Amino acid sequence: MSDTFFCKRKKVSDTFFCKKKGVIRAMDINLKGKRALITGASSGLGESIAKKFGAAGAKIGLNFHSHPDAAEKIASEIKTLGADVITIQADVSDSGQVKNMVDTFVRKWGGVDILVNNAGIDGKHSLIYESDISEWEKVIKINLFGPFYCAREVLQHMINQKKGVILNMTSVHEIIPWSGYSGYAAAKAGLSMLTKTMAQELGSSGIRVLSLAPGAIQTDINKSVWDNPSTLKDLLNKISLGRMGQPDEIADVATFLVSDLASYITGSTIFADGAMIDYSNFTHGG
Ligand code: NAD
Repeated sequence: MSDTFFCKRKKVSDTFFCKKKGVIRAMDINLKGKRALITGASSGLGESIAKKFGAAGAKIGLNFHSHPDAAEKIASEIKTLGADVITIQADVSDSGQVKNMVDTFVRKWGGVDILVNNAGIDGKHSLIYESDISEWEKVIKINLFGPFYCAREVLQHMINQKKGVILNMTSVHEIIPWSGYSGYAAAKAGLSMLTKTMAQELGSSGIRVLSLAPGAIQTDINKSVWDNPSTLKDLLNKISLGRMGQPDEIADVATFLVSDLASYITGSTIFADGAMIDYSNFTHGG
């Protein structure tokens, strides 16, 4: 079949739609020239996402909070992939530091096309009536105020550019309650609604906003669970696929979502959770 276009023109109002027929191309996820800022990228999911975006051709701003050596090591690995990268230290729960981070990023790359609000903590286990107020506030400040501060700053640039993508890392706990981690669950549920509201506000400016909700992915954040055979067994019973996810599996989804291939997805949460939200405890009836 020759590589010609077969156009079926259909008039809808004043617009003509033209469909390309007979040509099937493999999907090519390409972030060439896109400038991507990723928070909390010195470990876990952020590290994988930064590497995957770099491999797809993006220029990377690798935010870290307290592990400069890890950040530099990851940055040098990204450079060997042929990508441009800078590391930027900032605490995302501090609006002044977030402003400096975004200013530094924009001075370096001239604008910002992608923000991944990935930095997060789960906090200390404690029931609400016995919880420490400052610990609870810390979880909300990092997991909810942080993404708000970062989004607010990058939007100063994305609005003028009339394009951009913000990807918020939520969790299955945006819909599953989590006893002992009320701050985490509340922050992730709040972040999910922030995504939807921002998508509504920004659609007419050509900016997409999405949530990516992982299930149980093997990183430092949950090491105490997967490091212990009995808590790991309990966790695996909650996952239909019967295994934890790996950071690369989340980074692949993130790369697709920020790419132009996902150009019609905004305001949604995409779950990558091995069907954890589907009550896998009911797999054998009951
Ligand atoms: P992680 O602990 O490896 O990564 C979290 C990162 O956030 C770290 O690099 C940490 O330094 C950084 N960070 C913490 N506080 C910060 C601050 N104040 N400012 C800037 N950076 C800060 O764990 P992870 O699993 O890679 O988690 C990444 C994100 O994914 C988090 O938002 C987490 O809630 C979310 N998530 C993880 C899982 C999972 O199972 N691993 C599941 C659902 C959601």
